[in-house]
Amino acid sequence: MDKQLRSQVVFHLTGRHAQGADAAAAVAGMRPALMAAHRRLDELRYDFPVVFTAAGDAFVQSLSSIVETALRTVAPAGVAGEALRRRGLRVEREIRRRVAHGETGTFGQLWERAVAAVAPAGDAAFLRDAGEIRKAIEVDGEVADCNAALPAGFLRHAWSAVQREKAAAARKRIGELVIRLRNILRADFARSEAALAKPVLEASFGGAHRTMFDFDAMSKLLARSGPRGGLSPRRRRRVEEALASLEAQRFFATPGQPAVTDFHGFEFETADAAMAAFRERLPELAQLLKALRVAELEIGGDYVEDVHDALFAGLDTASVTLEDLEFFPDYLVCLEACQAGTQGSLAAALSSGVPLKIVVHVDDVFEEAGLGQGHFAFGMRGSQLASTAMSFDNVFVLQTAASNLLQLRDRVQHGLRFAGPALFSVYAAPDGGALPGYLQAAAAMQGRAFPAFSYDPGAGTDLAARFSLENNPQPERDWPVERLDYADHELQAVSEEPAFTFVDFALCDARHSAHFGPAPRADWGQGMLPAHEWMARPVRDPGEGVPYVLAVDDADQLVRLIVDERLMRSALRCREAWHRLQELAGIRDSRAERLLARERQAWEEAHQRELAAAVAAAPAAAAEAAAAPAAVEAAPPAVVESEPARNPDEPYIETIRCSTCNECTQINPRMFAYNENKQAYIADLKAGTYKQMVEAAESCQVSVIHPGKPWDPNEPGLEELVARAKPFL
Ligand code: SF4
Repeated sequence: MDKQLRSQVVFHLTGRHAQGADAAAAVAGMRPALMAAHRRLDELRYDFPVVFTAAGDAFVQSLSSIVETALRTVAPAGVAGEALRRRGLRVEREIRRRVAHGETGTFGQLWERAVAAVAPAGDAAFLRDAGEIRKAIEVDGEVADCNAALPAGFLRHAWSAVQREKAAAARKRIGELVIRLRNILRADFARSEAALAKPVLEASFGGAHRTMFDFDAMSKLLARSGPRGGLSPRRRRRVEEALASLEAQRFFATPGQPAVTDFHGFEFETADAAMAAFRERLPELAQLLKALRVAELEIGGDYVEDVHDALFAGLDTASVTLEDLEFFPDYLVCLEACQAGTQGSLAAALSSGVPLKIVVHVDDVFEEAGLGQGHFAFGMRGSQLASTAMSFDNVFVLQTAASNLLQLRDRVQHGLRFAGPALFSVYAAPDGGALPGYLQAAAAMQGRAFPAFSYDPGAGTDLAARFSLENNPQPERDWPVERLDYADHELQAVSEEPAFTFVDFALCDARHSAHFGPAPRADWGQGMLPAHEWMARPVRDPGEGVPYVLAVDDADQLVRLIVDERLMRSALRCREAWHRLQELAGIRDSRAERLLARERQAWEEAHQRELAAAVAAAPAAAAEAAAAPAAVEAAPPAVVESEPARNPDEPYIETIRCSTCNECTQINPRMFAYNENKQAYIADLKAGTYKQMVEAAESCQVSVIHPGKPWDPNEPGLEELVARAKPFL
């Protein structure tokens, strides 16, 4: 083992770097190489900031989409609209920059401030164009960036929009019932003696005509004119009581109206407080439910005293069903993960069936495990909570990083409309980190540290319908792969496809810099393995490969960072957790994989036995053939099916030994295909790269892919690939 590799191995095993704290300090300013392109994030157009607009399906919109829509409306096509478009985008960029630096306000306010800041002095055309664009933008609302305040802010706004819709429907129903109950009472009064009394008749005529009539005589005349009818005293009392309950309800306030009634609030700081309020209001809720049902029966003329009296006498808090609760507002609780962790009653609240909508803001997916365990526990609070909630079966669960909230806007609304409890677990890094909050959150999702998923009990009865891995990148892979183009130290263009792993995510957090050791370019050698390849087949002997990740420093110089074993172990655990989610989503099936492996092994053993028997029988058959008379035609020798002799420089597959495991065809279905026996062969060598060929050889469970020599001398990383291909030649 050479000296460089030895020092890398020592760091990997011990986490101790020869340069001590200086090495960790140097790493603290670095970021994953795949994030180099996002260094000036506020100059890029992306999902954030967002604008919390008025209620409706698009209750949140990205600033970019709002400006884009307006530009499409007002800017003439082609060159004629170019200046206007440029000015609009300039204002948009200024708003994004301001919000990224902590400025707050509504879209309208920020637009005005941004225009004032960027309009060149005396440039009337700029002001005119900015004004025209602003006029075309009809939405307004608070502007929010992807930061620590986003999970609660986003969910609160979405919840308010859903509650407004619910309240509007409820108020309409209650309002119509109130009018019709009043009409019943008014009609009843009109038929009563009291309605024909002189003062009432007088009041019912306009002031101009009062002197023209003798109301005393009119009263006597009308009183004699026919039989009086009306409500029975029991029915009148029922209608009056229902009307009083409906008018006094405190669940649905009318927006913008001065609150005559002391309406209930539905946002709480803890699940305990929400549950207490729910229990306290339950009798009032049951009363309102009863009033609604009585009113509807009375209005329809369907109330049958013999039947319904007993029914309603028995209606109390215990009769309230989950379906009944759908009519009422949901309770919102926004928590920090640390609160959620200490709040033992959270699970009880979620399992109660009460329509609580609980938002848990997870701000740290790393937790140091107990002393002596020597590893991180990652994502424990958030993911444990989400998994526990899923086990309750009737709880809607959505887990996502804050950067993904806009993409999951519809899913969020769906969860808030779910008739039952819901948990929204959202990761957003604390403000003030080295990376913008958006990148930090996106890295957590990309690196599988905080993957997005949802569990919707209302979507069906089985897991396939209920569970979704949502929009995680490349969900079928262990780690998503992205293209990275850069110039090497000889200024030659290089293109690679590194994976973004949990280790890259850890690199985004300066607290973990001590787990990385920079390796100078002179020390780069065969003994270094990209972290995702190391995880694909962890080596027992560290001398055979130390894992590294690609990073960039402040000057965007590419650096390799050796990763210590402790962090790699954590990354492996993260991958296992991801595998479990994949399994829930039906992407992999560990039982089927085991069965397949068992069958494959049995097939291999049987095949080896057949081969051995054929080889053993060959000399005897040859001797028999030699002894047989020449005139007797020799029986054809037992055919041992085998591949023809091959040139080891040319890639080939021992097709007859292929066990149809799909590994190679998944890597590149154009390069590898199945024949009529469903066994793989190389369909088109030029449809793929040597790298894919080597990866297929490494993945092949029965080692029947032989990569040969590279066919494209310009393919990057050939030296390393040839070394990896050696065992399979
Ligand atoms: S990886 Fe190997 S066993 Fe699997 S399909 Fe390809 S050739 Fe067959």
